Amino acid sequence: MPILTLQSPVTTLWGISDVQAGKLKKLGITTVEELLYHFPSRYCDYRTYATIGRLRSGQEAVIRGTVLQADKQTTQRGRQLFNATLVDDQGKTVKCVWFNQAFLSKVIKEGLELIVVGKAEFFRQQLTFQVAEYEIVKGGETKPSVHFGRIVPVYPETAGISSKWLRHKVMMALEVVEQIAECLPESTLLRQKLLPVVEAMREIHFPNSFEAVDQARDRLAFEELFVLQLRGLIRKSELQQGKKTKRVWKQEDVLAFLKQLPFELTGAQSKVLREILDDIAGGVPMRRLLEGDVGSGKTIVAALAMFVVAKAGFQATLMVPTEILAEQHFHKVTSLLKVLGLQIALLTGSKNLVSTPPDAQALLGFEEHFAKVNRSMLKEMIAAGKVDIVIGTQALIEADVTFKDVGLVIIDEQHRFGVEQRAKLHQAQEDTPDFLMMSATPIPRSLALALYGDLDLSVIDQLPPGRQKIVTRIIPPGKKALAYTFIRDRVRAGRQAFIICPLIEESEKLQLKSAKEEYERLSHEVFPDLSIGLLHGQMKPAEKDEVMRKFVSKEFSILISTTVIEVGIDVPNAVVMLIESAERFGLAQLHQLRGRVGRGEHQSYCVLGTESRTEKAIERLTLFVQSDDGFKIAEADLQLRGPGEVYGLKQSGLPDFRMASLTDFKLIERTRKEAEIVLGENQWQGIKPLQDRMKALAEKEGLLH
Ligand code: ADP
Ligand code: MG
Repeated sequence: MPILTLQSPVTTLWGISDVQAGKLKKLGITTVEELLYHFPSRYCDYRTYATIGRLRSGQEAVIRGTVLQADKQTTQRGRQLFNATLVDDQGKTVKCVWFNQAFLSKVIKEGLELIVVGKAEFFRQQLTFQVAEYEIVKGGETKPSVHFGRIVPVYPETAGISSKWLRHKVMMALEVVEQIAECLPESTLLRQKLLPVVEAMREIHFPNSFEAVDQARDRLAFEELFVLQLRGLIRKSELQQGKKTKRVWKQEDVLAFLKQLPFELTGAQSKVLREILDDIAGGVPMRRLLEGDVGSGKTIVAALAMFVVAKAGFQATLMVPTEILAEQHFHKVTSLLKVLGLQIALLTGSKNLVSTPPDAQALLGFEEHFAKVNRSMLKEMIAAGKVDIVIGTQALIEADVTFKDVGLVIIDEQHRFGVEQRAKLHQAQEDTPDFLMMSATPIPRSLALALYGDLDLSVIDQLPPGRQKIVTRIIPPGKKALAYTFIRDRVRAGRQAFIICPLIEESEKLQLKSAKEEYERLSHEVFPDLSIGLLHGQMKPAEKDEVMRKFVSKEFSILISTTVIEVGIDVPNAVVMLIESAERFGLAQLHQLRGRVGRGEHQSYCVLGTESRTEKAIERLTLFVQSDDGFKIAEADLQLRGPGEVYGLKQSGLPDFRMASLTDFKLIERTRKEAEIVLGENQWQGIKPLQDRMKALAEKEGLLH
């Protein structure tokens, strides 16, 4: 008999055949340890036995008694029954019935003591007990058996693996439970009142009470989030160990910038600006995530941060996910900073521009506020420090762009970039630049901290005043013609419209097909007289930009698109956003799409097409119609669909939690605070199991530490 360890294959356990091992594998279980981490989904309370004399029809119960008489029987319709009459210690009897198990007559004989679980029902005018599970009590045994006389675990099952069977195997596996190493510091267990891991594992499978179940769950969930939090914090402190020259900015520069803005900053903008400026002037490299709903005014904040850093004598750079967005930011920032005498450049895969200072414009007779330059010249200018602010796409890190002295790196719509890309740009310099990521995906604060534990968080939780409300309406099934008429009216009035094709998650090919068909149908049958563009994810970046450019310049009245349009593009003249099969989208995603309109002076509309009549779909969409608060919508979405779906975390290397839930904000906060304490006291370094857990996490993310 081989020695049992946590790493032993499950087949080492008694009574697991290769076929059964194959089925376990489908549940992700190959080792004894994995079997132990297959947690029950619920429990049945089989602690106390019901008194036979008091059974009522419909009652589910566990009873215990001795077999008085047993026989099999065939009903008139040919069903095989097995009956056994049980008598308990008060002398009361009940007839127990097993359907289709006549073979039991060989097993269950008169005089045996049985424990049975089942339901009391009237059967042929007699109260009988219909048996679901049974166990034979051997030799007057009094200690709890695996299945009865206790709180019994019910496991998530797969075909061919019953909960009852699993219970037995887990019971055996628990013999080596003490080999599971404690990964939490002693002081954490005390401070947080957590069960030690071995105890938690025992209680989670065969609990002594329901309170113990709660404690075990708490401990196991705590551990999962805590490891994630601690690793984030350690990463952050490592990254912040980089050398940094303080970027000393001047108050008068900030004031000069604010003075030439056509509006005042909102309170929320001022607050995050202060946080960012403090970081910039500090001696520790900034690592900050700036969250703000679409249209909350992140760009101004970014522009101001870049401005003061440039004025302090460093370069600043802004990286965005698409060329069209880069260009849009370039023009916005250039016009904002025009009078302030900085050299600003655009560097993308296909375009290189530099701003021309107002005096040079006069001197050279330029009409435009920018000029085209060739790429190698622009790179030279950047390397020589002749450009203060560089705005661009991934081309910024992919091409061999060398900065003279980058003091600030900003990444817009950060969720569009991979972790690796974030790291790469960050490591481009000796003097560690300050690092700011911006996101329009409203992630509740505590969740953001868990997901991006290596970043500080600033949130713009307020929209600029006077922002028009976007009128949102649901178009019921069969009424789509109304939406088309509405779009035609708007186009006639000189406006433009987006039409978003249904989301097809299973396949990009299908999605593409449906987008193309929709395009054909609309351009031939519905709007043959209007010019229509098509945008989808399979197009090359240059092709996408070309289509967007034509839409911006009003060559197209209507743009049909898949969700690639989601990212921060600004077309103030577009006033209708029609989303087909809206029920297929997440609410947060709908909100992003809605944010594409209402960016100009005209009243804007979001129209939700749906063919669904289910109550749930209508309820979700109605919630969306009634709310324009991105954070509220994201939270509702989170509760409805879970974070994996909402934030596309499935691909992000986030661990699959077995116990923890990313919607448990309280626990997320608690683990964060504890991780901060543990990091501060440096306790983690002596705990190998903890380090192993963090290493495993990092490997999953594809990071080296
Ligand atoms: P986002 O956070 O989506 O990137 P932007 O920075 O693009 O938002 O801002 C959206 C619009 O709101 C822009 O046209 C911008 O000029 C305007 N804006 C930004 N801040 C304010 C403010 N404090 N008051 C009025 N308008 C503002
Ligand atoms: Mg933006």
